[in-house]
Amino acid sequence: MQQNNFTLSILTWYNKQKRILPFRDIDDPYKIWLSEVMLQQTQIETVIPYFQKWISKYPTIRSVAAADQRLLLKLWEGLGYYSRCRNFHKATKIVVEKYGGAIPDKWLEFRALPGVGDYTAAAVLSIAYNQPYIAIDGNVKRVMARILGLKNLSNRNMTRIKNYLTKNIFTDNPGDFNQSMMELGARICSPRDPNCGKCPLSFYCKAFAIGEPESYPLSVRKKKPPHYEIVVGMVWRGEEFYIQKRGEHGMLAGLWEFPGGKVKIGESLEDALYREIQEECGAIPKILKKIGTIKHAYTHFTITFHGYHCEENGTSMRCQQNSKWIKPNQIDEFPFPKANHKLFSILEKQGWDV
Ligand code: SF4
Repeated sequence: MQQNNFTLSILTWYNKQKRILPFRDIDDPYKIWLSEVMLQQTQIETVIPYFQKWISKYPTIRSVAAADQRLLLKLWEGLGYYSRCRNFHKATKIVVEKYGGAIPDKWLEFRALPGVGDYTAAAVLSIAYNQPYIAIDGNVKRVMARILGLKNLSNRNMTRIKNYLTKNIFTDNPGDFNQSMMELGARICSPRDPNCGKCPLSFYCKAFAIGEPESYPLSVRKKKPPHYEIVVGMVWRGEEFYIQKRGEHGMLAGLWEFPGGKVKIGESLEDALYREIQEECGAIPKILKKIGTIKHAYTHFTITFHGYHCEENGTSMRCQQNSKWIKPNQIDEFPFPKANHKLFSILEKQGWDV
């Protein structure tokens, strides 16, 4: 039967070709869940060292639930999408308090945890608990659009993809089936250069039969992301400088940073720095010298980030509720956004002193 052959073909290929990963072929639901959270929007190669470091510090779900969020964010530093870390922390607390530390194996209960969407629920429940849910990530969408010859991923076509996968999922081991489809998308059926000659599913693939499989699905042209000029001040008081914690919601929530912000159109960098620090800390600092300029790209926008050494100038900084004066050797105790780390690298080379 074609259905069985499709399933058999992909699983046979997967069993021979799958990469050995620290979060593969394990049966601990906590580690499987953590890896799925880390892998969202992030390459496997990037995740591996983060996963290993995290597990060595927090080997159990209870150890995460009991941890200080600042330390968790510090471990997550550089991985991006920090709400994943905060939500995972919240969810582990619920698992410990409400479910006695056992990760729920029922869809509605697991799906209701903070940060758990359809994809994560399906991936974790299929891999950890052998439940026949189909997990559709970006790779699987692309593979299936090609198999079914779909030019777009409309709701109707997504339903066709789900139905096809539901019909073909290997119910004895749905976790392997889901992972095999993702692995194929990551390693063989790449967006621009699918290696159809090595594909175990070429026999079933309409896009391959038609020709130009890379044109399935049609790529949606993305708008150029907006760009912002950001200016920040490293305000010194003696041997210490001022940092403040971002709020609990929104982008980079819970991370620490220097005071500063966006430069308005027509405003000089220095004027923007005076204005921002006065708004945030009630004092206009004295600008001493520029540290440097770095560029950084976030998912939805890019920034040019200008850093300055400053010092208090008569009026003391009105410290925010969550703020600290720290010495350079204390930066490892706080999680900072990646752009700040690029500035720290400049400071390491030129020296932290003014
Ligand atoms: S035959 Fe080519 S296009 Fe089709 S699924 Fe395989 S790699 Fe992708």
